[in-house]
Amino acid sequence: MTSRKEDTRGKEPIPDIVVDPSTKKKYRKGKFLGKGGFARCYELTDMETNEIFAGKIVSKSLLTKPHQRDKMSQEIDIHRKVSHRHIVGFHGFFEDNDNVYILLELCRRRSLMELHKRRRAITEPECRYFVRQVVLACDYLHKNNIIHRDLKLGNLFLNDDMEIKIGDFGLATRVSFNGERKRTMCGTPNYIAPEVLAKKGHSFEVDSWSLGCIVYTLLLGKPPFETSCLKDTYTRIKMNEYHLPSTRVSPSARCLIKRLLQATPASRPNMTQILEHDFLTSGFLPAGLPTSCLTMAPRFD
Ligand code: ADP
Repeated sequence: MTSRKEDTRGKEPIPDIVVDPSTKKKYRKGKFLGKGGFARCYELTDMETNEIFAGKIVSKSLLTKPHQRDKMSQEIDIHRKVSHRHIVGFHGFFEDNDNVYILLELCRRRSLMELHKRRRAITEPECRYFVRQVVLACDYLHKNNIIHRDLKLGNLFLNDDMEIKIGDFGLATRVSFNGERKRTMCGTPNYIAPEVLAKKGHSFEVDSWSLGCIVYTLLLGKPPFETSCLKDTYTRIKMNEYHLPSTRVSPSARCLIKRLLQATPASRPNMTQILEHDFLTSGFLPAGLPTSCLTMAPRFD
């Protein structure tokens, strides 16, 4: 496993023991887990119960502008209200003088990003197993009027039982009325849908698009619209230009990818329809996966 370097540039130091000023509860800071655009993540152990969380810590010095604070509050407000087996559990949040702390379910096996980097193309049964869990969680989110908007391998976390937990609600949004089209987004999703690039208004269908990119990447070992520069990638997305070799993917997987990567949002299947697709209902579905899958292909026999 590669080591993760800690980066503290321009950020407040995090004490070894973090105290929630309102409840006086104490948390011991443990292993560094990783960093994102704003957050640093550490194991935080509740010193009373010994329960271990992933503590997502954001320095207040990075939240000086009102819209940055609003984004953070929106992320917390959406994440705290959802609860699903395949969504990172939300266990609370608090702040001290320097930082905002979010206590999350700890996902010790990192994410599908690290699995992809190590393995590249994975087997169809593994892909079916992971994707089904992602779709179950998204179906729940959409039924609760939430669009994740940044489904990507790095946001699909894994626990010790190799179960998917969707995380990072930083770009998520609530749909407030039937048929609402979102016009803006504060941030750039990794697997950005063509209607977002065209600023045409977007909705739930962007998650189906990202899921298409995820299935493609898991089965072919590289993203569908990848080029060496972002501008060219965006051009290919707008032109719906991707290559899907018939030799390396089964007919049902090809069919699902094609349906999900349709330029017209309304033509893409929604999460409930994806659950009923041949790729997920036929073919071998493992009941679980061993952690050895993180480094090598399993043998299903
Ligand atoms: P940001 O919103 O700033 O991008 P992320 O939510 O992506 O932050 O978290 C940053 C990093 O912290 C992730 O890439 C991952 O390495 C680690 N991380 C985040 N959530 C968890 C979790 N629940 N369990 C374990 N590690 C996590």
